[in-house]
Amino acid sequence: MQREESAKLFKKAKTLFPGGVNSPVRAFKAVGGNPLFIESAKGSKITDADGNVFLDFCCSYGPLILGHAPDEVINAVSETVKLGTSFGAPTRLENELAELIISNHRYIEKIRFVNSGTEAAMSAIRLARGFTGRNKIIKFEGCYHGHVDALLVKAGSGLATLGTSTSAGIPEAYTKETIVLPLHNKEAIEEAVIKFRGDIACIAIEPIPANNGLLIQGKDFLQFLRDVCDREDIPLFFDEVISGFRVGFEGAAGLYDIQPDLIAFGKIIGGGLPVGAYGASDKIMSCVAPDGPVYQAGTLSGNPVAMAAGKAQIQACLEPDFYKKLEEKTTSFAQDVNQFSASKNYPFKIFHIGSIFWVAFTNEEEIASSEEVEKSEMSYFKAFHGELLERGVYIGPSGFEVGFVSRAHSQEDLEKGAAAMKEALDAIFSARP
Ligand SMILES: *Cc1c(COP(=O)(O)O)cnc(C)c1O
Repeated sequence: MQREESAKLFKKAKTLFPGGVNSPVRAFKAVGGNPLFIESAKGSKITDADGNVFLDFCCSYGPLILGHAPDEVINAVSETVKLGTSFGAPTRLENELAELIISNHRYIEKIRFVNSGTEAAMSAIRLARGFTGRNKIIKFEGCYHGHVDALLVKAGSGLATLGTSTSAGIPEAYTKETIVLPLHNKEAIEEAVIKFRGDIACIAIEPIPANNGLLIQGKDFLQFLRDVCDREDIPLFFDEVISGFRVGFEGAAGLYDIQPDLIAFGKIIGGGLPVGAYGASDKIMSCVAPDGPVYQAGTLSGNPVAMAAGKAQIQACLEPDFYKKLEEKTTSFAQDVNQFSASKNYPFKIFHIGSIFWVAFTNEEEIASSEEVEKSEMSYFKAFHGELLERGVYIGPSGFEVGFVSRAHSQEDLEKGAAAMKEALDAIFSARP
């Protein structure tokens, strides 16, 4: 497979951007070689700068639940962009997208649009602090909430300790307000809420953690969090940037039937354009400016072109059986590969929920915390990624990224994807002693 043009473009990009990219994972550091430069995409397929076509399971890391360039989104964007790109004034489209979401989502009464998932999580945290008048936040090891200073934090040593930053450039004054706990560990939470009682602005979690592999928590743990938050009068914040509109229209909150106090959205909500949002009850949202004292603003927030894309995509998600079909496709795809892997005794498994899946080199039946991920063999992933590329299948270039099945993935696509994965596994493990 020729990838010369991508190599050439990457060489140029490295003179322009740090690492040649505008978001680190794209640089292929974890798998080696040059990233593919994508020229175009349609449905389940992407075409690179050398004209190679790949079946795509990365789907832009989550936003593209209808696949690439779906007709309804492209039409909505094309029509809207002709009328102007930004006004800095309210538009009808903001109302329409907000109403579509709020009237079909039991857990939010008001919403505010922003421009990314990071911005949504950052603003939700500020709102939780403004609403409660408290400073500290609890987050979990293995959950990602965007590159917000106070959230780029990992656990210090020992349970219920204050965090240390995972990036240079973050003052200790910020990270000392963040308490980082292990996932799926009830004792650690009990210990922390007692130790910091009266000072916790919110407990923040990805209800379906999908940024460090797929660490499915299940209803029991999330219900426990809800109960602790009720007992201690702490707002519960679900970061549903990846799970929202993905595992069901109401995201993980709806799937598990648990009411969070604040929710952040991103990814799918923008139909492939940059949109984030946060929502809550009327009471909590009334703290946001200009109604309340929590400041948050955006020059391009509620941008009409992005709103039109989001509206077209969200509307398609409301089609009857939309999520059921996605889940069925994903389950049979994962089962197909898993049965093969088990029959060959390979230390490999696809974990999945809704239309999210994660390829893991492990013998574990379940993985629910990030400590368990370290044990699984990331070195195999690099070879797996390369074998898949050679077979025309593209997945995210890191073993910690999840994959996605979209509406555009046909039965034939999924069979092709499964066959490529089986061949890749054979290629990797046949050389095994
Ligand atoms: C992707 C993601 C973010 C960050 O969103 P960006 O749009 O990349 O800023 C935050 N939280 C979760 C759970 C995400 O998956």
